[in-house]
Amino acid sequence: MSEYETVIGLETHIQLNTTTKIFCPCKADSWNDGPNTNICPVCTGLPGVLPVLNQEVVEKAVILAQAMHADIQRVSYFDRKNYFYPDLPKGYQISQYDMPLARGGFLEVPMPAAHEMPAYTRRVSIHKLHIEEDAGKTKNEDGRRLIDFNRCGVPLVEMVTGPDLRSADEAAQYLIRLRQLLRWLGISEADMEKAHLRCDANVSIRPRGATYLNPKTEIKNVNSIVAVREAILTEVERQVREVEAGRSIQAWTLEWDEDAGVLRKMRSKETEADYRYFREPDLLPIRLDDAWLQEIFAAMPELPLERRERFSEQYGLPEYDADILTGERSLSDYFETAVVAYGGDPKRVSNWLMNDVLRMINESGIPAGNLKLTPGYLAEVIKLVDAGTINTNTGKALLDKVEQTGSAPGDIVQAEGLAKVSDTGAIQAVCAEVLAENPDQVTAYKNGKVTLIGWFVGQVMRKSRGKADPQVVKSVLEELLK
Ligand SMILES: [Zn+2]
Repeated sequence: MSEYETVIGLETHIQLNTTTKIFCPCKADSWNDGPNTNICPVCTGLPGVLPVLNQEVVEKAVILAQAMHADIQRVSYFDRKNYFYPDLPKGYQISQYDMPLARGGFLEVPMPAAHEMPAYTRRVSIHKLHIEEDAGKTKNEDGRRLIDFNRCGVPLVEMVTGPDLRSADEAAQYLIRLRQLLRWLGISEADMEKAHLRCDANVSIRPRGATYLNPKTEIKNVNSIVAVREAILTEVERQVREVEAGRSIQAWTLEWDEDAGVLRKMRSKETEADYRYFREPDLLPIRLDDAWLQEIFAAMPELPLERRERFSEQYGLPEYDADILTGERSLSDYFETAVVAYGGDPKRVSNWLMNDVLRMINESGIPAGNLKLTPGYLAEVIKLVDAGTINTNTGKALLDKVEQTGSAPGDIVQAEGLAKVSDTGAIQAVCAEVLAENPDQVTAYKNGKVTLIGWFVGQVMRKSRGKADPQVVKSVLEELLK
C-alpha cells in the first residue's frame, strides 16, 4: 500500500434538459444545430435586455437537491461572476454565489469489492448546489478563432463535493452514480461526450493517516469517466514524484490532453476575488413556496440505491442482480411490473432480463419501457418454458418474435406450432430418418466415435424445427444406435 493518500474533490456542471434556456425563450439543446442558430438579444447580452427566469430550471434543480439530501434554501439570490472571455458576450456570467439554491447534502457511492478489498460505501458530501447559465464555445480552426453562442444561457447546476474521494476509482464511481441518478430523475441526459455532465477534479496527496489538506491542483477539460480516472492517476503519480524529489506542489490548473494522455499547465488558478461577484440587479431572489416544494417532492420517484436495496430484500435477489436491474429506471420498472402485475418468479424474470432482454435493449437502443415485448409477454414466455410447453431455446427465439411482431407469445406458439414435441413416436420417426440419411456417421459412431451423438441430436432438432425435446431425442438415438 502506498504511503500516500489521495484526496479528491469534484466540481460537476450538469446541463438540465429543459426545453428553453435559463433566461430567454431560445431552445436549450443545440447538439444537432449549426453554430449561432439558437441565440437572441438576451443570451448574447445586447444592451437594454432583461433576463426572465425559467421556472423549469428551478424545478429540476430542486429535484436534484432533494435527491442529494441537500438543505434547500427558501430564499436564494443570483450574482454576477465577472470575467472577460470572447465566448462570454455579456462580460459576466449569471450565477449564484453566497446564497445558493441548496447547501449540504451527499451521495452514497457503493464501491464494488476489488483486489481482496471488501465492498464498501463512500459517502461523498456536497458543499453547495447552485444554478447558473453556461457560456458559449470557442474553437480554433485554420488559425482563426470561431465563437458559437448557442450554449450561452443553457441552464446548469454546479455541485462541488467535499474532499471526500480517496482514489481515481472512487471518483469514477461517483460520476457513474451521479449520471445514473440524473437520468433516473429525468432532469439531464448526463452525456459527458455532449458536455451535459462536465467535471473538474481537485487533486492532492498527503501522508496516509494525516488529516490536513495539502495544496491541490485542478484538472479541467476531461470529457469521459475513463478520462477522469486516467487524468487523476497521472496527476497523483506526478505529485508523488514531486514530493519525493523534495519539491512542493503548486496550485496549478491543468488541462487533460486525452490523445496524448498527458496533463498540461493552463494558468495559475484564479482566486474568487478576481471574479468581483456582486448581486445580479436584473433578477429578483428565488423564493420557494412550501406548497410548491411539497408538490415536487410528492412526484419524485424512489431513488436508485433505495430501490436496489428494496429489490434485494423484497424479492430475495442477489446484490449483483439488484444492481443491474436498477441501473436504469425503465428497466427496474419493467422488472417490477413483470413480477408484481404478471406474477413472474423474481429470480426467473431477473435471469431472463439480464441475459436476453438486456441484449435486445443494447442492440436495438430501445428503452425497456418501449419494447413490444412487454413485461406481461416476458412473464408469459417464462411460464411457457417453465411449464414445459416449449423448450428454452424456443423460448429465447420467441422473445425476438414477440418483439418483431408485437403478438402474444401464446398466439405465436400456436400459429407456428412451436410447442415441444415429447411424443416419442414422432421423435422416433425423425431419428430413424436422420440415421438412414447418414450411414457414414452411423458407422463411425458404432466404431467408437460416440461424441457424434451431439451431432445427431442437432440434425434431429433441425428437422423438427427445434420443437423436439432434446433429452428425449438423445435417449431415442442412443436406443436406435445400440
Ligand atoms: Zn436567447
